[in-house]
Amino acid sequence: MRSAEIRGGSRLGADQLDRLRELRDGLRRVAAHVTADDREHAQTDLTLEEAMAAINAPLASSHLLLARSADDTVEVSWQHDAEGFDTVIAELAFEGARLLGDPNNELLPCHGPGCVLYYVRSKTRRAWCGPICGNRARVARHYRQNRDSRSPSA
Ligand SMILES: [Zn+2]
Repeated sequence: MRSAEIRGGSRLGADQLDRLRELRDGLRRVAAHVTADDREHAQTDLTLEEAMAAINAPLASSHLLLARSADDTVEVSWQHDAEGFDTVIAELAFEGARLLGDPNNELLPCHGPGCVLYYVRSKTRRAWCGPICGNRARVARHYRQNRDSRSPSA
């Protein structure tokens, strides 16, 4: 696939898709590092330094400001000078960096069959990124139990 749509139906070109993939791979590599992910199928070819550079590049046009809000509180706000598609990349990089750089997050690799995603642990006993992976894991477990309990046919 060499083009896709994002927000409002605008078409993305090959360069934009390549930039999104670079960011995705960077986020995955850093997520693997912070979660000590050992899933072989979820690894990327990037070094940790390359991955962090892929995330930091879109953030180069952004900065944090301390601002006074309407209700007279003081808050930190994130701003960037990006425009158009660069805004999308910068926002994704910022949210990813904020999640991955938070030592209090409970980011975990999903161990659903073949899944390469991560999820944030909630208060529930959630063990997968979503219901599809949960169903796949239950089906795989059921298949293994039935296969293992079958007696060998003669
Ligand atoms: Zn999953």
